[in-house]
Amino acid sequence: MLTKIIATITESYDEQKLIDIYQAWVNVVRINFTHSSPVLAKPIIEKIHKLNATQEINLSVLLDTKGPEIRTWVRDEKLIVKKNQKIKIFVDESKVDLSCDLFCDYAHILSDVKVGQEIVIDSWLLIAVVQEISDDYLLVIAWSDAEIGSKRHINLPGVILSLPALIDKDKEDILFWIHAGISFVAASFVRTAENVTEIRKFLDDNWWSHIKIVSKIESQEAIANLEGIVKLSDGVMVARWDLGIELPIHQLPTYQKEILDMCFTYGKPVIIATELLKSMVNNPFPTRAEVSDVYNSVIQRADAVMLSDETTIWKYPIKTIEYMKKVIQEAEKVTNNKHKDFQILQTDEASFLKKAIARHALMLADDIGAKMVVVFSYSWNLAKYISAFKPNQPVISFTTDDKVYRFLELNYGILSEKIDHLWKHSTDNQEIAINILKAKGMVNVWDFIVVIGERVHHNIHQQQIRVVPID
Ligand code: PEP
Repeated sequence: MLTKIIATITESYDEQKLIDIYQAWVNVVRINFTHSSPVLAKPIIEKIHKLNATQEINLSVLLDTKGPEIRTWVRDEKLIVKKNQKIKIFVDESKVDLSCDLFCDYAHILSDVKVGQEIVIDSWLLIAVVQEISDDYLLVIAWSDAEIGSKRHINLPGVILSLPALIDKDKEDILFWIHAGISFVAASFVRTAENVTEIRKFLDDNWWSHIKIVSKIESQEAIANLEGIVKLSDGVMVARWDLGIELPIHQLPTYQKEILDMCFTYGKPVIIATELLKSMVNNPFPTRAEVSDVYNSVIQRADAVMLSDETTIWKYPIKTIEYMKKVIQEAEKVTNNKHKDFQILQTDEASFLKKAIARHALMLADDIGAKMVVVFSYSWNLAKYISAFKPNQPVISFTTDDKVYRFLELNYGILSEKIDHLWKHSTDNQEIAINILKAKGMVNVWDFIVVIGERVHHNIHQQQIRVVPID
């Protein structure tokens, strides 16, 4: 299977649950820090580490940040709102009358919105329209009846926000988790290329430049700045929950396709997230529409599909992963990737060479009907490029480096294998690799495989493509 599955997990997962989801075919686990903290998450990350070390599982970890959200504030009792009721939204807590007003924790709301702006509270529970802007509050009119609880989410569709890329909680969470060995930071509410640079700088300043940044696209502003964000990110997530609030929802498929195409242009991995098999939170079967959604995500060449509530609420998680796997396999029967070229930002010769080798190895593999492609990964670059060209057969990446091993878990078509040593002469590596593949029953006599070998000559690494018959 070439497409990857990401499962969201919670602190309540025990070791057996981790083993179960891994065996059902999950490659990456996501922990959503909107609902977690370093203290809460510590035991689960320790379990993942322990099981990864004993090779009972092989799961990479993606930390999803809380991000710079906008929220109403704490209230003991719900605010009952009636259709056409006028409500004041204050940014100064001391002025709020909790019996009739709301508070918003984004101080710039008064200057950022205009009269007529839609304010979406608690994911469409209430849509209110701005009627008047004073020095202290917004006067809004409710479009429907609603009951607004404590700390509800506020979306301001289309508004350019003056928020940082990371809030203090995100920085604390990332620093903790980096020491705990995460591979990916999924940055919530990335809106501009500058936001990605800001996150990269934070990681660089803390000596963790190798952590991969997955930018979550979940606002109109991010869509407007898509190309810049994609260029600077290591990967992208189509975060369809918030994106579906920030955009008119009927446009969501259009933008999903636009994001996928942009990632394809720049060779960046892309994750499709949210509600792929939502009904399986409560039911043992998916709906017809959900099956089509997963199938179409694969046909559109997503690198990974992500489960959220389906795997956090432990009702039918394994059935859900099994259905997702079956649908992916069905879609992959008809995918015929053409290895179209993509742009890279590095202009150095080595990158161009690696890219050309990656593409031609896949073309050769198609032409001779190779069972798989084998690559020796000293860094993640070569395997990353192979993945970006979208292979039609599995690509086995052998590496000694734990970080490289984990990063590639997100990339389409790559199966990571950890080995103790990579020799200078790639024919030695090739022999070791073939023995491992034979022992695992992954290749048989008469199969052909394509090996991307490497020759080190006067300290210059030269890649070579070889067709190797298995005997
Ligand atoms: C989303 O909005 O679809 C998403 C994945 O982010 P979150 O789960 O943090 O809302």
